[in-house]
Amino acid sequence: MAARLDLDANPIAPITICVIGAGGFIGSHLCEKLLSETPHTVLALDVYDDKIRHLLQPAGAHPWSGRIEFHRINIKHDSRLEGLIKIADLTINLAAICTPADYNTRPLDTIYSNFIDALPVVRYCSENGKRLIHFSTCEVYGKTIGSFLPKDSPLREDPAYYVLKEDDSPCIFGPIEKQRWSYACAKQLVERLIYAEGAENGLEFTIVRPFNWIGPRMDFIPGIDGPSEGVPRVLACFSNNLLRREPLKLVDGGESQRTFVYIKDAIDAVLLMIENPARANGHIFNVGNPNNEVTVRQLAEMMTEVYSKVSGEPSIETPTIDVSSKEFYGEGYDDSDKRIPDMTIINKQLGWNPKTSLWDLLESTLTYQHKTYAEAVKKAISQSSTT
Ligand code: NAD
Ligand code: UDP
Repeated sequence: MAARLDLDANPIAPITICVIGAGGFIGSHLCEKLLSETPHTVLALDVYDDKIRHLLQPAGAHPWSGRIEFHRINIKHDSRLEGLIKIADLTINLAAICTPADYNTRPLDTIYSNFIDALPVVRYCSENGKRLIHFSTCEVYGKTIGSFLPKDSPLREDPAYYVLKEDDSPCIFGPIEKQRWSYACAKQLVERLIYAEGAENGLEFTIVRPFNWIGPRMDFIPGIDGPSEGVPRVLACFSNNLLRREPLKLVDGGESQRTFVYIKDAIDAVLLMIENPARANGHIFNVGNPNNEVTVRQLAEMMTEVYSKVSGEPSIETPTIDVSSKEFYGEGYDDSDKRIPDMTIINKQLGWNPKTSLWDLLESTLTYQHKTYAEAVKKAISQSSTT
């Protein structure tokens, strides 16, 4: 491999990276990138390995085989965690319960996973002088200031009332009985803890706030590679509906707005953070694509059109239906109204900009969903109709 240089033209030395939650959606793409494009070694920790099995097996068959070790570890209770953090140069913590359907229905698990379970990781990094990249969420911003203005206020059009800035925007959550915010609140407190460890004990840290990263291997298709009653994030929910030729469900009218970024663009940003510590340490970074904003209704329409193109099947007569959030998620659900990331800090520190348009990222992702799941879904449907 040719000598690789960081953003300041210094050669990049190979390091060992402890990736916690390596078997998840983001973890699998990060491991793939680290192994195929860098000389770094990965200690991959997770309870599951199915999304990275193609990187691990057959043993010894890949050019990177000596550079990845999988450790099946639940970080809630495993004494091996500190040892692995100690032998690594950098720890990246992705482990979390992070599907909105869990926030109001399993609030205790959500809080324990996102807050309590992250504490030893922060402590071991701080005590052992190890660098930490911690995955938080754009949801720490909560609702926009603009959402509290009257519906017809012209100020709602003013970016000062909705663009989310790492060093400026407040974190605005709903009341405690809206348990949706259990996740955001837990993530926020870990951010504050890490920041304080940096300020008081010199912990070298970077905090990542992902804004709806999507792509292949995100979540699961209910009844195929996840529980039939499970409710994944919107990409997998809508993919499941399209695969089963049923209407896409728009929660509370599908009026909420999101910006979606392609996982491969976002992973480029993480690699820049890994390899440019002097530029990334001490920072919180929004990682999203402000140009890819849609309402959830528009997302449903676009996914319907793209899926029809990649599958060659015409869309169904009634492509969407409305459902209430109470019906879909149960009591205590609430929503972020709009999420536009300010890109100033990541642009200045790392020169990163997202590249992929929403149409293009949906086209490659839905091509993957169709190839991976269409046959299995057809089989499952025909089996259930015969029983
Ligand atoms: P994911 O659910 O696919 O991955 C999380 C992984 O962590 C899973 O493989 C899970 O098995 C593992 N894990 C959870 N608890 C664990 C434990 N106790 N011990 C060991 N492993 C454990 O989710 P993702 O989308 O890859 O998200 C990764 C991180 O990014 C999370 O912290 C999430 O909050 C954050 N995030 C992601 C997005 C996004 O757009 N995908 C948005 C906001 C925040
Ligand atoms: N949503 C929807 N139908 C679904 C799944 C999700 O309308 O089948 C909505 C959800 O209410 C939210 C948005 O899509 O407004 C994004 O949801 P997701 O679960 O991806 O996570 P979030 O962006 O809220 O963290």
